[in-house]
Amino acid sequence: MSKNNNNNKSTKCVHSGNLIDEKYHGNISPIYPSITYDFIESDVYPRYFNTPNQIGVCEKISDLENADLSLLFGSGLGAISTTMLSLLKKGDHIILQDSLYGGTINLVNTEFKKFGIEHSYVDVSEKDKLFASLRKNSKVIYIESPSNPLLNIIDLSSISDFAKNNNLVSIIDNTFASPINQNPIDLGIDLVIHSATKYLSGHSDILAGSVSGAKKKIEMIKSSGLNFGSNISEYTAWMLERSIKTLKIRVSTQNDSALNLSKFLFDNNFVSKVFYPGLENHKNHAIAKAQMHGFGGMLSFELNSNIDPIKFVQDLKIIKPTMSLAGVESTITSPVLSSHKKMDPEVRRGLGISDNLLRLSVGIEDFEDLMLDLDKALIKNGK
Ligand SMILES: *Cc1c(COP(=O)(O)O)cnc(C)c1O
Repeated sequence: MSKNNNNNKSTKCVHSGNLIDEKYHGNISPIYPSITYDFIESDVYPRYFNTPNQIGVCEKISDLENADLSLLFGSGLGAISTTMLSLLKKGDHIILQDSLYGGTINLVNTEFKKFGIEHSYVDVSEKDKLFASLRKNSKVIYIESPSNPLLNIIDLSSISDFAKNNNLVSIIDNTFASPINQNPIDLGIDLVIHSATKYLSGHSDILAGSVSGAKKKIEMIKSSGLNFGSNISEYTAWMLERSIKTLKIRVSTQNDSALNLSKFLFDNNFVSKVFYPGLENHKNHAIAKAQMHGFGGMLSFELNSNIDPIKFVQDLKIIKPTMSLAGVESTITSPVLSSHKKMDPEVRRGLGISDNLLRLSVGIEDFEDLMLDLDKALIKNGK
């Protein structure tokens, strides 16, 4: 397991960036919901990313990601679109990993043409294909690791080298790993994005996003971002601060249970394939082990072809069939019927996403209960 800079994470989660209640000396950060401040003293305004609660949470995320600065947005996609559109202009080209979050693909496919921004999807783990995708006007490379839904792992150091050698800005969607399991900035990646809706929040009750990186790049995103206006409310920022306090212990439990569940599923006769980077037979296990601090709480598996995935999911009692992920409660989804529904079936199959694939987001329930829940539904549907 990678040892680089994973110290003091729980302490950072609890203490970094917290605001001091100077007037009443309360123990936790006050909420400053004011949208207007004394104009003689300051230029504070929520859309300028500079209100106290936003600054506090950003300091916490920056500390966890070993970044200079961070910005908060109203959603993960707000962070993604603002970051991309801040860095790209008409005539530029962006290289994208071929397996990305569905909403990101939708953003690129439906909006970028209007702005005259070119793009290519490429299997970035294949060096030849990666080099072939490079154009004179390439400006950005955008990746996701672990990726959805097959948990492919990209070698982050090789991507950052490629980006540096070719004058590209490298961006990673680090949502699936969370800052507990992976710190891409330590491996030379320029910008780290989170859908804070997922692990950073962890309770499936807020929508938020973040981007972290070096001062100069974040200042640039900030100056365009205040024109796009995809900002977060102070209440949500405060909720996020509270949520991140338990990030380390949540993710540690999720890592352990996901590894144990993936072993259980791997040994189960009703399951044909398991995708989890912590399994030694995962195709990218060695890279994952070298660059991650933990293997994460996400896994996916393929049911035997005679099992109806919908019936199976309906027979689960604890694990809930829901679209989203990374909550304290375990959830399961069919990528073919949700995140990858709009994708051309041929392309989908080419990526290895079968109709019988299910993606499990492991929560913090007792591992034995989760295992029994899966076991019972597998026996019932597998016979
Ligand atoms: C959910 C998600 C997003 C989008 O985040 P929203 O908060 O829903 O806008 C982006 N990337 C990944 C990997 C996600 O899981």
